[in-house]
Amino acid sequence: MALFKATAYICAFNTANTLMRKIEMVDLKAQYRKIKPAIDQAIMEVVESAAFINGKPVQEFARDLEAYTGAGQVIPCANGTDALQIAMMALNLQPGDEVICPSFTYYATVEVVALLKLTPVFIDVNPKTFTIEAADVEKALTPKTKAIVPVHLYGQSVDMEPLLALAKQHAIPVIEDNAQGIGGTYKFSDGRVKKTGIMGEIGCTSFFPSKNLGGYGDGGAMFTNDEQVAAKLRMIANHGQQVRYYHDMVGVNSRLDTLQAAVLRVKLPLLDEYINARRAAAAFYDKAFANHSQITVPERTNYAYHVFHQYTLLIDGDRDGLVKYLQEHAVPSMIYYPVACHQQKAFAGKGKVIGDMGNTELLTKRVISLPMHTELDEEQLGYITEKVLEFFK
Ligand SMILES: *Cc1c(COP(=O)(O)O)cnc(C)c1O
Repeated sequence: MALFKATAYICAFNTANTLMRKIEMVDLKAQYRKIKPAIDQAIMEVVESAAFINGKPVQEFARDLEAYTGAGQVIPCANGTDALQIAMMALNLQPGDEVICPSFTYYATVEVVALLKLTPVFIDVNPKTFTIEAADVEKALTPKTKAIVPVHLYGQSVDMEPLLALAKQHAIPVIEDNAQGIGGTYKFSDGRVKKTGIMGEIGCTSFFPSKNLGGYGDGGAMFTNDEQVAAKLRMIANHGQQVRYYHDMVGVNSRLDTLQAAVLRVKLPLLDEYINARRAAAAFYDKAFANHSQITVPERTNYAYHVFHQYTLLIDGDRDGLVKYLQEHAVPSMIYYPVACHQQKAFAGKGKVIGDMGNTELLTKRVISLPMHTELDEEQLGYITEKVLEFFK
């Protein structure tokens, strides 16, 4: 078996006729090589300063990110999951309060809901955009609904305008899970354009290395335009204290490392360029798979600027066979996500499920994400698309 795999691997290189670079799901090594001097210097400066906790780059990065996103305030924290948890803690939710969220998302979105003893209310997604819609949120509303969590999945904004209107009408705060959406935008019907993550009461993001703006370890941040909310988020992330050793409430310890902030400060000015590279790869894939009877390319909406955290196809056929075929030809792929949140063991008997979840359950069986990163070249893209198409012949 191992021998067979190795042979297939060598063949993969021969087919391309030159020494094609190994295809990675995310190629962080190649990306680093291009920015090595700036990154190495930024890291050395932190090491020399020994200000590992709350060093100057942390605040500088927060200011840079405020300027980039247009957020009133950016509050850095340790990771995206913490950002979501701290956001929910800041809303004074009580055990049993209901939080409406998609079931088709990364598990962290809903894990924090359960951790805080709140009730996740799972709703279905639009099967074309992979995201939740206001009409389904409305069906899930009860007097106990205390928050709505839209997730900008794969890098495409949720249709926020109707959702924000509904939330406003019922005075329910919106927490955006922007872990996959950073750099993306949403266009309102009056022409205004806003970055994802700054449209709800609180936006949350992650700097996990493979995210669109990734550090060299864990990291996260919260966005808000409300100063009081910002103060609260800061306090909760800092052991519930505003003044050192005076704790006004029970909080957590969640900080962005100075080293991570220093790396992220180097990478933030490159984010738009990185997004362009992702979009170019997506356009290549789109063209190759256009009008294929068994492959559906990701839908583009007229309101979202898609930043392609993932490039995800819908397969009408043997999806798992395709994964295996690609693997045999040295093309990595991933299933995001094979199990919906409401079907996870951890949620057995917990939470509420609204409707039949038909779309969500179908998506778990049909989606496949192809390699997507900033360093894909045409030779690699050509090879990947050739292998995908070959499988269906
Ligand atoms: C990555 C991710 C998170 C969690 O971020 P971490 O930094 O890994 O804790 C939350 N939600 C979504 C949608 C994500 O993709």
